[in-house]
Amino acid sequence: ADLYGVNDWGCDFFKVSDNGELEVQVDFKDHTVSVPLIQIIEGMQERGLEMPAILRIENLLDARISALNEAFARAIQSYQYGNVYRGVFPIKVNQQCHVVEEIADFGSRYHHGLEAGSKAELIIALSKLHDNESMIVCNGYKDAEFIELGLYAKEMGINCIFVLESLKELPIILERSEALGIEPLLGVRIRSSVTVDGHWNEDSGDRSIFGMSTHSLVRVVEELKQANMLHCLQLLHCHLGSQIPNIRNIRMGVMEACRFYSGLIEQGAPMGYLDLGGGLAVDYEGASSNHTHSMNYQLDEYCNNIVETIQECLDPENIPHPVIVTESGRATVAYSSMLLFNTLDVRTYEPAPLPESLADDASSTLQSLWQVNQDVGAENYQECYNDALFYRDEIQSLFRRGQASLSERAIAENIALSIFQKVAKEIRSSERVPEEMQHLPQMLADIYYGNFSVFQSLPDTWAIDQVFPVMPIHRLDEKPTRDAMLADLTCDCDGKIDVFATAEGTSSTLALHSLKEEEEYYLGVFLVGAYQETLGDLHNLFGDTHVVSVAIREDGRFDFVREIHGDSIADVLSYVEYDPRIMSEELRQRAEKAVRQGRITPARRKQMLKAFKASLDGYTYFERGTL
Ligand code: PLP
Repeated sequence: ADLYGVNDWGCDFFKVSDNGELEVQVDFKDHTVSVPLIQIIEGMQERGLEMPAILRIENLLDARISALNEAFARAIQSYQYGNVYRGVFPIKVNQQCHVVEEIADFGSRYHHGLEAGSKAELIIALSKLHDNESMIVCNGYKDAEFIELGLYAKEMGINCIFVLESLKELPIILERSEALGIEPLLGVRIRSSVTVDGHWNEDSGDRSIFGMSTHSLVRVVEELKQANMLHCLQLLHCHLGSQIPNIRNIRMGVMEACRFYSGLIEQGAPMGYLDLGGGLAVDYEGASSNHTHSMNYQLDEYCNNIVETIQECLDPENIPHPVIVTESGRATVAYSSMLLFNTLDVRTYEPAPLPESLADDASSTLQSLWQVNQDVGAENYQECYNDALFYRDEIQSLFRRGQASLSERAIAENIALSIFQKVAKEIRSSERVPEEMQHLPQMLADIYYGNFSVFQSLPDTWAIDQVFPVMPIHRLDEKPTRDAMLADLTCDCDGKIDVFATAEGTSSTLALHSLKEEEEYYLGVFLVGAYQETLGDLHNLFGDTHVVSVAIREDGRFDFVREIHGDSIADVLSYVEYDPRIMSEELRQRAEKAVRQGRITPARRKQMLKAFKASLDGYTYFERGTL
């Protein structure tokens, strides 16, 4: 059985092998290669790269770029659409050099370009994109320096287009353009009135913080006419929001964008490009639904809808079909990265073994609680649950008043736990569970402590309750016997994962295997290639994890194409303005003082300073057996 829903969210990139290992699958021309993730972890260990680590599989990134471009090509062909598709990757979604380089290199066969939202991102685009047919779309607020960079690019023959976010940008562009004698390529970003489902619902429609009002759009056209520059206006940009789960919103958005497009043509602008922004969703839950973390459409349907809607809107007006541009970010990069980590410990909510009987002088409350534990069964579990809560609370309040001892409280809590576990067992096997008891299995779930930081590696889990697929990457031929939630290494109550996608929908617990002595238990969090890496922060000073890029070859072997070591402790300290050299000196002086006071020997001082130096150079995460 596909307990973790891999076949639903995995997009055919992941599969469980017969011997219970999660494999990554790559299609070549006439065969498919599967590599167990555990083998890649072994390779990392041989290279001294311990957990946690971000693993990137280059082939998956390439496959997604192909899938997007090929799907648009199919739609264009089947509708006999009269123009081409040009994708651009928004750099902000994953700015890592290796990712952008791979997109630029592999994407050049499709003239896949880049979207830049700042000067820094434009510099990345200008240096990494070598194909003049690919586009560079410049969004965001642009100052004179940003504009100069883009104008020089245009002069060099690069297809670099400024998208006006507001009316205020136009005078700067016109002024710089005149000063340098370079005509710009211009686009306008409209504010769509379509509200979309999903997480960004409140930011879409009229309350969207980006794009121009229709009034401003009309003013832009007037000002361009006055400046005799209307011929520069070639692109209409409309971004409805990210992760749009409902295809009907997309169709509505495209319809509205087309109306703006034809309106601008009517005003005399040449146009030629229709940029529909991002929004193509990722089915993180594998539910194929219009829930926030899912999507109710497939890639082909997305492309067909766009192509067909543009035709339906523009053909009656005899408007030539524009180049279709989309800025898919998450759908391009999410699949290629995963976070891998080991588990360090488990806290279970199992009762300790109960005594054969209670002491003769046990209080009547304790006696009653004991009796409930004897009686609990399928018929009376709700009553027993209520009684157990009552008696346990009673003993806790007696304890507060000094009328029950520590050991009485310990016994009472242990008996209550035993009752709750029995009740939870009944709940799991019953069809209808009273509402007030539905949370019980979650309350009794194990807590698995993982060697990672939610804040550093999965910031959207914390910030916007993003659901990512999580599962063990081995032992999948064994039935998992534990229900668990995950806690990270930070001592923060938000440092946890307690919503999981399963084959039956989302759940607050994840089925996991019991830990074995002397054997690591590895888990993976999948589809984390978009937004997570640079949004992550240094909570508790857990730094960047190691990042490893792997390319899988046709013969089934794999190469470590990049290894980037994660932050050392000295690195993270310097990010928050400490100077590790000064800190070493401060510690040296303290140790020297302790020698003078006779507290430690010079030999111990040497040992201490060595340990301090090793810590500064070491990984910020839990390291096994480094001493
Ligand atoms: N384009 C623009 C202008 C955006 O603001 C965004 C993100 O919100 C994107 C593209 C990427 O969106 P997605 O990752 O949903 O494809």
